[in-house]
Amino acid sequence: MTEPDTHVVVVGGGFAGVACAKRLAGEQRVSVTLVDKHGYHQFQPLLYQVATAELAPDDIRFDLEHMFRKYPNVTVRKAEAVAVDPAAPSVTLADGSSLAADVVVLGAGAQANFFHTKGASEHAFPLYSLEDAVRVRSRVMELFQKAADDPKLIEQGALTFVVVGAGPTGVETAGALSELIHDVMPHVHKHLAVSSATIILVDLGHELLGAFSSHAHAYAAKQLQRRGVQLRLGVPVSEVAADQVTLGDGTVIKTGLVVWGGGEMAADVAGHAGFSQGRGGRIDVQPDLTVPGFPAVYAVGDVANIPFGDEAALPQLGSVAQQAGKWAAENILSAADSGVRQPFHYRDKGIMAMIGRKAAVAEVGAHRHEIHGRFAFAAWLGVHMELLGNIGAELKTYVAWAEDFYLRPHHRSAALLDPSQIDTPRLNQDQES
Ligand SMILES: Cc1cc2nc3c(=O)[nH]c(=O)nc-3n(C[C@H](O)[C@H](O)[C@H](O)COP(=O)(O)OP(=O)(O)OC[C@H]3O[C@@H](n4cnc5c(N)ncnc54)[C@H](O)[C@@H]3O)c2cc1C
Repeated sequence: MTEPDTHVVVVGGGFAGVACAKRLAGEQRVSVTLVDKHGYHQFQPLLYQVATAELAPDDIRFDLEHMFRKYPNVTVRKAEAVAVDPAAPSVTLADGSSLAADVVVLGAGAQANFFHTKGASEHAFPLYSLEDAVRVRSRVMELFQKAADDPKLIEQGALTFVVVGAGPTGVETAGALSELIHDVMPHVHKHLAVSSATIILVDLGHELLGAFSSHAHAYAAKQLQRRGVQLRLGVPVSEVAADQVTLGDGTVIKTGLVVWGGGEMAADVAGHAGFSQGRGGRIDVQPDLTVPGFPAVYAVGDVANIPFGDEAALPQLGSVAQQAGKWAAENILSAADSGVRQPFHYRDKGIMAMIGRKAAVAEVGAHRHEIHGRFAFAAWLGVHMELLGNIGAELKTYVAWAEDFYLRPHHRSAALLDPSQIDTPRLNQDQES
């Protein structure tokens, strides 16, 4: 058997890192070390379903060792990368050890950007990881329990939920929270006046889902308002405290939970690699996905600004990350063979957001054909099934969840909120993958 001649260290087991390692898996001339601080892939597009008790954490957690168990040329390391030396190249881990590489692929993703808002990093709840989603869910349950024990707390904001950010994360979270509160909670806390719960969505901008068309802005606003969500647009959040939020116009909102979907920036390690950082702290890469001046270092997914066509940078989407990760792997192989790397070509599937059950909006394909309602929900499902399929999830159970979500919503969430009754299928990896 030939010894591998290229050692690739991939940092991050998200969409980008997994797609890269999967393409290199089984290639005898390459060995791969996949480093992830969690040791599992977390399927971010379904985080808010965990936060609002539609899915269990294990449904969207995929163990990386298990994922690559059939590929001897891929080693998974559960470790945090703290720095990259692009000249060596090598990756330094939190325990002080260093991984020498022939090629480094940085796919460490994003984290919340609080834009220096006073108190936000201490008191707001971001939604970028599975731990974040579980924290939000626990906080919602805790607040409902407190309000049930002492209804006077409702006046002090115990059941007032503030969501910051009117992009897809904020809109989807506000919609899902509303369904949890109005459709599910009455079954859990039968004696609580759940109708006194309020959700307030705040954004500095004047519309929801800014990247979408003006039709979609209006559709999303109408759907959220129909679900009882109050919109506070055109005003910034100036301070977040433990029990209240202050807006730029001086309004003070008493609240027990502030969910932060107000923006993202590159993961910390991007700032410890000696590269200049562009918009959002992300690494500006060349069309072939390498970092300027360092042909053996690639940056892909949410940690990178990836130029394409007329766009200075593609949006932070699962499909961009997945396709870029695979493309980086192709370029690593072809650079080893012939020294040639191809510019990344993105296959645009469009953009979509699910505002709630039976209310989604999708702009499909590169030409942005706009659809709403159940057809948009179907498009949303299709794109997520492809993303899930590519990381090896079993789709049968995902379809079962979607069916439950669409047709029998209370059944699943109520079961998830009552630990003694948990009997929900898991979206575990396909055992045969
Ligand atoms: C709430 C939410 C909803 C979303 N919904 C959608 C959607 O509907 N459709 C869509 O296309 N996109 C959606 N996105 C965006 C999409 O999830 C991201 O674009 C995608 O996850 C980016 O993939 P990535 O591989 O770059 O990073 P990630 O998926 O974030 O993965 C990064 C990985 O790196 C690891 N890591 C980070 N730092 C280190 C370190 N220093 N050392 C080791 N490991 C590290 C992390 O543990 C993580 O596993 C959503 C995002 C969020 C937050």
